[in-house]
Amino acid sequence: MRTTINPVMDEGLSTMEAPITLMYWALEDLDGTTYVLYDLATGEQHKVPDPNFRRWKSVAWIPFTDASFVDLINERQAQLPNPSYVDLSTLPVLHVKLRDDEEARVFFRGKIEYSDFYECGECGTAFLWMREDTEPYPVCPKCGACNTWFCDIHGEVTPIFLQNGERRCPICEKQGPPRGCSLIRRLFLRTAVRKELAYCIQVKRGDIITEYVINKDGIVTVNSL
Ligand SMILES: [Zn+2]
Ligand SMILES: [Zn+2]
Repeated sequence: MRTTINPVMDEGLSTMEAPITLMYWALEDLDGTTYVLYDLATGEQHKVPDPNFRRWKSVAWIPFTDASFVDLINERQAQLPNPSYVDLSTLPVLHVKLRDDEEARVFFRGKIEYSDFYECGECGTAFLWMREDTEPYPVCPKCGACNTWFCDIHGEVTPIFLQNGERRCPICEKQGPPRGCSLIRRLFLRTAVRKELAYCIQVKRGDIITEYVINKDGIVTVNSL
């Protein structure tokens, strides 16, 4: 499998950028007051009123579906030293109405994933490549660049790939003592850091905590802790 990826544009696929937020929490207090992560009029980011378990009428994670709201928030974030941007999404609403004997809290959970990819030194394309592919070595899907090997005697050759990682000149191999090849590197192995957000609600009833998590693909999991 060779998949072209864009390490800059892909969601959070950069060591420096914060992940894109696709949902915001909304909390409905017992007296009907509502609290929302972002101010609907100014886009200003609010802190959760209480990070601990407490009584609410209902708690929810709501996807961004209003482009002007997204723009408003992002304009505001752009002025901050560590901006955290938001984007439109088609994720479902996660809404939990609480019973009289239940308390709840909402929070983000960040997950960091590492993955290897190749970056082409000729055209800058980033792509994934797996060793079990039909090609024995990575080739840039855009410009066709690949790492090449040189034999001191025969110049550029397509080497014999040995299991132990050795690359031998196929001509020397036939003619006499085996000779290794030196690599001209055009593709560079990089590690991408992908930060993903999950949106969590925990509901506590007595000693039992039920956790609802919605991930960026819209998959909701419910667990008892
Ligand atoms: Zn290339
Ligand atoms: Zn040779």
